[in-house]
This record gives sequence, C-alpha cells and structure tokens, in this order.
Amino acid sequence: MIPAPRKLHHARQRQQLIISWQNGQEHHFNYRELRAACRCATCRANQVRGHLVLINADLQLEKLNNLGQGLQLIFSDGHERGIYPWQYLFELGNHLATPV
Ligand SMILES: [Zn+2]
Repeated sequence: MIPAPRKLHHARQRQQLIISWQNGQEHHFNYRELRAACRCATCRANQVRGHLVLINADLQLEKLNNLGQGLQLIFSDGHERGIYPWQYLFELGNHLATPV
C-alpha cells in the first residue's frame, strides 16, 4: 500500500490538485481528470455500462477532505461521494503521466 502523501496542495488558480508522495514523486491532477475517475456508486454504474459522463469545462473542486486513508473530493456538479484512496490516486497519477 502507498502511504499517505507528504504534501497535498490545492492550486485553485491552476485548477489542479498537486500531490507529493513519500517516494518523491509528484502528481498534478486536473479537476476534470479527477472527476472522470470518480468512483461513487453512480459513476461506477455508468462506467460499467460504458456510459460516458459529460463534464462541464467550468467544473470546480469545491472542497477536499483528507480521510486519512484517502481523499473525499467534492465537485461543483454535486458529486461529493467519491472516495479516492491513496493507492488509487497514485496509480491514476502514474497512468495519466504515462505518454500513450
Ligand atoms: Zn461520481
């Protein structure tokens, strides 16, 4: 398991969440990347059915709650039940950073 990050930085001006991990890696997440990776029950059901969720360009990250084992992210479109465990965020960050 990935330990809790060294540092969390919500860069509102850049609309990014920046996570510095214990191993020295740093991930920059755009709001929309995080929102697309939401794992709340509704979003997971959509993903399973292959439904695409449209995300507004002006989506905001209203709030983040550090739950100890991960983050709860509250978005301006009303999605507030997505829990993002550290391991999930770490893998997501690596995935997004990998050029395809
Ligand atoms: Zn969701």
